[in-house]
Amino acid sequence: MADLLWPGRCASCRTPLSHASDRGLLRVLCPLCADAVLEVEPPACSRCGLPFAGAGADHLCAACLADPPEFVRARARFLWGGPLADAVVRFKYRDCPHLAGPLGALLEPLAFAAAKPDLVVPVPLHPRRLRSRGYNQSALLARRVAKVAHAPLVTSLMARVLDTPRQAGLSRKDRMWNLTDAFAVPGARRWQGARVLLVDDVVTTTATIRVCSAALLAAGIGEVEVVSLVRAAGRAG
Ligand SMILES: [Zn+2]
Ligand SMILES: [Zn+2]
Repeated sequence: MADLLWPGRCASCRTPLSHASDRGLLRVLCPLCADAVLEVEPPACSRCGLPFAGAGADHLCAACLADPPEFVRARARFLWGGPLADAVVRFKYRDCPHLAGPLGALLEPLAFAAAKPDLVVPVPLHPRRLRSRGYNQSALLARRVAKVAHAPLVTSLMARVLDTPRQAGLSRKDRMWNLTDAFAVPGARRWQGARVLLVDDVVTTTATIRVCSAALLAAGIGEVEVVSLVRAAGRAG
């Protein structure tokens, strides 16, 4: 019940949030926890957004060089871990859809930076998971992205038709195999050649967003760009 009362508690340590804390991460986390959150900073892979250690210019990571992704660009705002991971887990698995507003607002800079999309599309959930969770966390985040990007949010474009086993613990290649044919694009006819801004909550190996992008392109979508709240990956060299 306390979660329903604004401003509520820190989504990590449960400290009550102050009414004055109405901006950015402070709408979700207390100042101490917000300080521990790491933003994705350059340099990063110019294609998939994987952050690199050290200084220098953006360039392609080894994985993108060897096997270029189907999307034109993927960007995430934060690195996985610590208090933000607690907040995302709470949002995703503990029936906290009210976190969508403040977490979605954190995607605004990425939505502004993206090439102007024709439509905004969330990574879909399988209907069975949607029923058990009650909401698609990526679709809730995508609402804010669509508003900022001045493009329609189209949740009916793509569907998850296979409820694939959990991806955790699988290699990138195994994840791609696991996901092939998991997505269909029933709403593609209206959007031939269109530019899609795909929204995901957490990008881990990029397998999901790659397979989604491939399905969209195969259905006649012109181009796919991806924004996500969190990138869960070790820093590349
Ligand atoms: Zn806290
Ligand atoms: Zn890359």
